[in-house]
Amino acid sequence: MSDVLSLIDRLSRDRSLTEEEYEVLVSGYTPEAASFAASLASSVRREYYGDEVFMRGLMEISNYCRNDCFYCGIRRSNRSCSRYRLTPSEIISCASKGYGLGFRTFVLQGGEDPYYTDDVLCSIVSSIKSMHPDCAVTLSMGERSYESYAALFSAGADRYLLRHETASAPHYAKLHPSSMSFENRMRCLKDLRSIGYQVGCGFMVGSPYQTPSDLASDLKFIETFRPDMCGIGPFIPHKDTPFGSESRGSAEMTCYLLSLIRLIFPPVLLPATTALGTIDPLGREKGLKAGANVVMPNLSPVEVREKYTLYDNKICTGEEASECVSCLSSRIKNAGYRLVTDRGDIRKEKINGKV
Ligand code: SAH
Repeated sequence: MSDVLSLIDRLSRDRSLTEEEYEVLVSGYTPEAASFAASLASSVRREYYGDEVFMRGLMEISNYCRNDCFYCGIRRSNRSCSRYRLTPSEIISCASKGYGLGFRTFVLQGGEDPYYTDDVLCSIVSSIKSMHPDCAVTLSMGERSYESYAALFSAGADRYLLRHETASAPHYAKLHPSSMSFENRMRCLKDLRSIGYQVGCGFMVGSPYQTPSDLASDLKFIETFRPDMCGIGPFIPHKDTPFGSESRGSAEMTCYLLSLIRLIFPPVLLPATTALGTIDPLGREKGLKAGANVVMPNLSPVEVREKYTLYDNKICTGEEASECVSCLSSRIKNAGYRLVTDRGDIRKEKINGKV
């Protein structure tokens, strides 16, 4: 066996490698290594989740943002971005529509928009939770204070997604303006965990200046942090950002990393992201086969879809939510899995053939 294959084999037994070994895995990508990792990842995914795929209703509630991340299309300095925000009643009615389509998790994502004070956001969360007590509410609203996260948790929020973006501080500084810091990003993740949220981290694959050593740090971070969710997708340039002419990440490397993450922490909830579906027409199916077990169809009103443009050529901006669900459901079936109506919490135990 080659070095890389034997490291993958060892990872699937020990769930841990050194950072140097992770770097060998990343630099040693070959289609053969990726398919070996994918076969081990799919079998361990089956032990925890059978053939089930969980869905999350993604609501893109605002594209106003006070931050200026170099990669992101809704960054503050992008004057060509046409801004919008959804009102609390629009968000609540989106959730009710999603409930009827079988969603049992709602993800409220947006830029860091000061309109959503703790009071406003807490009242939205508690309304959704009281109307749909069998559902989980996930927030993905960026960096906030400990007190704010605690208030939102008390209002009923169950989960929080905050990609760490990169686990290397020098790389973080190349992707963000100096007003943002790696330390604060990590502080947020630790606060969220200590408050009791199910926490999601994640990163972009192929972001500018990313090296195999940076990706090795991401893998080591995931091994030690053991996130409940981990969102990874390819970096895709957005024309009106400083990274507009950088090259995008690859679907192959994204899928390989999905497999490695599944092997590192088998119970993790791993989405096959829209970004992966954007750069490859069968990207999400490939992601599922590599070890992903979550999809996040868009529940935002069609009128605003086009405006939540983090990167160019995003897919599914024209379809109604119901069309997205039926399209995804048949894609998932064709890939050999089953889309289920479930909150889709992390399973810490193997299911022993019960699903
Ligand atoms: N304001 C929230 C939500 C950010 S958007 C927060 O800070 O968490 C969600 C994710 O989209 C980001 O975390 C980033 O990883 C990803 N993203 C942003 N721009 C992107 C791009 N150009 N290509 C691929 N993914 C991108």
